[in-house]
Amino acid sequence: MIVVASANGGVGIREAMRVLKSGGSAIDAVEAGIRLVESNPDDDSVGYGGLPNILGEVELDASIMDGKTLAAGCVGAIKGYGHPISVARKVMERLPHVLLVGAGANRFAAEMGFAPRELLTDYARDVWLKRLEHDMPADVRQNLAEQNDLWKWVELATDPERAGGTVNFIAQDGQGNICTGVSTSGWAWKYPGRLGDSPIIGAGNYAHNRYGAAACTGMGEMAIRSGTARSVVLYMKMGKSIEEAGRLAMDDLDELGGKYLSRMNIIALDKDGRPAAFSNYQEAKFTYMTGEMQEPVLAPRQFVATHSRWG
Ligand code: ASP
Repeated sequence: MIVVASANGGVGIREAMRVLKSGGSAIDAVEAGIRLVESNPDDDSVGYGGLPNILGEVELDASIMDGKTLAAGCVGAIKGYGHPISVARKVMERLPHVLLVGAGANRFAAEMGFAPRELLTDYARDVWLKRLEHDMPADVRQNLAEQNDLWKWVELATDPERAGGTVNFIAQDGQGNICTGVSTSGWAWKYPGRLGDSPIIGAGNYAHNRYGAAACTGMGEMAIRSGTARSVVLYMKMGKSIEEAGRLAMDDLDELGGKYLSRMNIIALDKDGRPAAFSNYQEAKFTYMTGEMQEPVLAPRQFVATHSRWG
């Protein structure tokens, strides 16, 4: 058994392994690990404490995929619920659908008995206000919700070097079943309703027991356009090793054109329980813990250069 996560998953990885060791499924482990990250007020990119959209609203995205059945559940732009990963799991288990967004996701969370919660912390509000003060004249700032050119301000305020963050978890349980989960508040200062790769199966999340799994953090628009998580798993299905599969999926990103290209990070697991991780950012790390290990390790990701461009 093994749990693999993005570096910020360190706060939940021991709990995920404890769940596996006590006989829980890979799905239980992924949900348990991610819930601790979602509750962590110091993580400003996931769950409670996440940085808001340009209007100051915290909108969360999450997805979960069961590699045994290829069932999946996802929520996008859900507001006022602190554990989108658990709502996503309910979508997978209770509905004939895969993805709920916005008001429908909020409504479903309430029907499933999740308690609403204010997610915007004082810290996140301060950072948001400072960013607006830095980038916008007072008359725009004060009537931001009424502006009919919000798109322009989003372009100004988003910043690929500091606006992202997401948590990825992959677990393989004692039965060999694999599950992948992703949770995020997405890009800070994003346009309301924007979804990244995190709630999109195939982009930010993909799991298949027979081949392996992958999940992404970084600029979600790139992973959506390239189908990154699914590509890693498909390359493994085609017989590539996990190292080759991850590199090929990173290389695919280099074919993207356009003005907005930035960071991408992948964690992956092959069907035999071997972890790997990739990034186009030199210092990036990931974490993993096997059933034999007393403590998780924080390991470097393999660096794969891709071009970046902004504006
Ligand atoms: N992938 C996330 C998104 O695009 C953000 C990130 O991981 O930095 O919403």
